[in-house]
Amino acid sequence: MNRHYFDYAASTPVDPAVVRAMASFWGEKFGNPGSLHSFGQEASAAVFEARDTIAKSLGCHYSEIVFTGSATEANNLAMRGIVGGMATRIGNRYRQAAEFAKPSHDMGGDNYTTKPKIIVSAIEHDSILDTAKELEKDGVEVVYLPVLKNGIADLKKLESALDERTILVSIMYANNEIGTVQPITKISEIIRNFRNSKSSKLTAKSLESAYPLFHCDAVQAFNYLNCNVNDLGVDLLTLSSQKIYGPKGVGLLYMRRNSKHEALNPKQIQNSKFQKNKVSDFGFRISDLQLVAPIVTGGGQERGLRSGTENVPGIVGFAKAVKLVAYSRELETKRLRKLQEYFLKQVKKINSKIELNGDAKNRLPNNINLYIPAKSGKDPSTSSGQGTAQDLVIALDIAGFAVSPGSACSARVCSPSHVLKALGHSDEKAMSGLRITFGRQTDKKSIDLLLGELKKKLK
Ligand code: PLP
Repeated sequence: MNRHYFDYAASTPVDPAVVRAMASFWGEKFGNPGSLHSFGQEASAAVFEARDTIAKSLGCHYSEIVFTGSATEANNLAMRGIVGGMATRIGNRYRQAAEFAKPSHDMGGDNYTTKPKIIVSAIEHDSILDTAKELEKDGVEVVYLPVLKNGIADLKKLESALDERTILVSIMYANNEIGTVQPITKISEIIRNFRNSKSSKLTAKSLESAYPLFHCDAVQAFNYLNCNVNDLGVDLLTLSSQKIYGPKGVGLLYMRRNSKHEALNPKQIQNSKFQKNKVSDFGFRISDLQLVAPIVTGGGQERGLRSGTENVPGIVGFAKAVKLVAYSRELETKRLRKLQEYFLKQVKKINSKIELNGDAKNRLPNNINLYIPAKSGKDPSTSSGQGTAQDLVIALDIAGFAVSPGSACSARVCSPSHVLKALGHSDEKAMSGLRITFGRQTDKKSIDLLLGELKKKLK
């Protein structure tokens, strides 16, 4: 039986050119990049070259990239690291986030009486949402920013949620379930404006004007959208190799260095209207090392931000995958957009009640997330607990077509999708999403075959 893959948002096959680029690093060039001898230096040079290649593609400096074991880990580092980094920077290395829980806690001497706040969108990946929940237990206030019916973040609510205590905003570039693309440059502008207005109003109790930082999970976006960090105006950005035709087990966090907020040196402080004794660490050199605390400690790799011997073949493969995306991004986006339009037209012919979840325009060219109404007499939320979407996914799989019921299924148990719920859908609707995602191997022929099978199954 021929098998057809329509789940590129879950993972992508490793490109053969990536496999070739990695090959020698499994055996011949196996050294530990931390070793001083030539074997180590060979590996270290490869990691450096990979870091530089990726940095160029993101428009940043190689020292701003930290390789991790996954995007999940990079998201954790962004969130836990910023909260922990703040605690570290204000004076007590051992004071953890839990300290923030205490109301009006004095955070390091004279000037901090604040409980930090982070803002995340309600449709983030679980690696952000679950981490936010954990931080909440530690006493950090979390605002779950609602999205509009079309899945785009409510920017008015973002503006009103920002306040002096906000240290981090995390909003994804493109959603993994419904493919909606957030207006990242608009969001970074809102945050920048807020920071600027804050810096002219700093009081003794303020966090520095570097906050809030803006983190963006660009895992699903990189294949199709410009991820230049300066164009986007983000301070932190997450990528995953396995979503861009690279190997599994490697991700990265970009962290902006030399934010303009570091510009104040002691002389400038003396001249500035801010008195040193009023805002004690305003003017500290705010670099990534001070802003982010590591969550994995040990041998000090990745400038101390992520200890553990580097995954050299994975990192080399990741860089090759990034290069390949840069070559193909524009053409592939156009090609998949056409296929997406075609698919949507045809699927509506099968059943006019089928709806597209999420904004039709502001979405990735490879994502289709459908609401398929339950067949009459079948209630997806009853007895078996199996929704139509899951039944359909299994039936399609048996016929050779790999699609997904969305990201709300783990260990084969499905619950209503938090993303579809955030769009305002009922539990029934939020159980009935069918995610079909295209990729490099998708063509019109395979789409027609899928449409044919869907037609049979939905009759
Ligand atoms: N962020 C987004 C938007 C994702 O889609 C995923 C994976 O699906 C992740 C983060 C986590 O990636 P990984 O499983 O590689 O850690």
